[in-house]
Amino acid sequence: MSACDILIDRLKNGAVEKIAQELDSSLLGPDEEDLKFSFPVNVLGEAYLTDDHLIIHLKVETKIFMPCAICNQMVSADLKVDHLYQAIPIEEIPSAVFDYKQLLREALLLELPKTVECNQGKCPERELVEPYLRKDWDKVNFPFADMDKNTND
Ligand SMILES: [Zn+2]
Repeated sequence: MSACDILIDRLKNGAVEKIAQELDSSLLGPDEEDLKFSFPVNVLGEAYLTDDHLIIHLKVETKIFMPCAICNQMVSADLKVDHLYQAIPIEEIPSAVFDYKQLLREALLLELPKTVECNQGKCPERELVEPYLRKDWDKVNFPFADMDKNTND
């Protein structure tokens, strides 16, 4: 039996199962060089049955370590899903036990930030690299700016 198992039989007769769990971060998968799961995964919510569905409604919170996009120093970032809502047809749960670990993992991994920055988004090295970033940005977004001007004449 896993910590994330929901027993369908217990929910018959309209019972609502309250969920309050602190799970090990290993459920998110193995650490990688630029993504570390070192914090517990906190889960709060409830599960109940409708006529033919198991309803799971969870709030999930953890933190991760990722390298700052500017200086590469590892920083922690919040990773959370406020409303993880899932309706699973009961006929798809033949064992009458539903393990929502996979659900948690997928929902959290979808929310992974693409980049993080240290010092609450004010990396001390930002000033050093910003002029270069901006130059690249212009090149990518407005490569034909001058050409447009000529066409409109
Ligand atoms: Zn930084």
